[in-house]
Amino acid sequence: MCVVAVPNDRIAEKVIYLLIYHPLLIMFGWSYMRTIFQPTGQVPRKFYLTKQDSDRLEREADEEVQRSILINFAKDLPIQNRTTIGLPRYCEKCKCIKPDRCHHCSVCGYCVLKMDHHCPWVNSCVSFTSYKFFVLFLGYALIYCLYVAATTLKYFIQFWTGGSDKGMGKFHILFLFFVAIMFGISLISLFGYHLYLTFHNRSTLESFRAPVFQTGADKDGFSLGTYSNFMEVFGDNKLKWFLPVFTSKGDGVFFPTKTAPALSYQTMGNTPSFGDGVTYPTRTIDLDSDGLLGDRQRWMEEGDTAGEGPSAVSNSSVQLVSYLED
Ligand SMILES: [Zn+2]
Ligand SMILES: [Zn+2]
Repeated sequence: MCVVAVPNDRIAEKVIYLLIYHPLLIMFGWSYMRTIFQPTGQVPRKFYLTKQDSDRLEREADEEVQRSILINFAKDLPIQNRTTIGLPRYCEKCKCIKPDRCHHCSVCGYCVLKMDHHCPWVNSCVSFTSYKFFVLFLGYALIYCLYVAATTLKYFIQFWTGGSDKGMGKFHILFLFFVAIMFGISLISLFGYHLYLTFHNRSTLESFRAPVFQTGADKDGFSLGTYSNFMEVFGDNKLKWFLPVFTSKGDGVFFPTKTAPALSYQTMGNTPSFGDGVTYPTRTIDLDSDGLLGDRQRWMEEGDTAGEGPSAVSNSSVQLVSYLED
């Protein structure tokens, strides 16, 4: 798709179109490539149960003992998210305690830090390490589509009013205009939705199912205020906000919360834990089940897409949530 093909006799107009078009194309392609090829964040070693502990956990029939194994193991880990009954979140497949905002992706086959969703368009998980790139990709793609639509609009009108006499070229204009408008409309809702999530410090998954803290489920639990939320993803340096270079804050493992906003982002190893690590407030919502820990415990991140997200969310986003296993 290139505006050189646009039938245009005025050289100055062509030059201006090209000068704007190519930087847009580069930023769009660069963001897309970074989203595709950026490796997802992996769970640090210390979150994995030892072979001995995981074997014991699986062999153990008593639910209370299973719980105490998990609680004991997790008591020094920097986690604040819990299951709906107040236990550390455990991944049976990876045999690890999930860090906050981390989820197991059934397509990738492992736990992904601050997983947003598994995206078939990039064949990878959009997560802590690639979320900024993904949002930029949506933004640049939207501007690109709007630009193409705007620069072809004049020729599109000429086609319908009979002013165009360039043969087959007029069909290219028709195609270009319609495709740009179609993608542009889809991208407006998707980009708008992800901006909304960024400003509210939520992942797509969290917008469908609120993360559970020791004080209960709270969709805004990680929200630090609109500007701070934006900076958590885009970083402090304004010059780099619009470049697809990694500037997100933190390590993807620990996140400051609404109730503890002053904590550092780099807290692996010295994060204060809350409570006594033994007793946790419990909730009566009992939607979950878990093979290992009985039918009461799954924190149901699979298929629970009961329309909680903003209406702007696209069908593809809803679809994507179903990739989750737990
Ligand atoms: Zn996992
Ligand atoms: Zn994935």
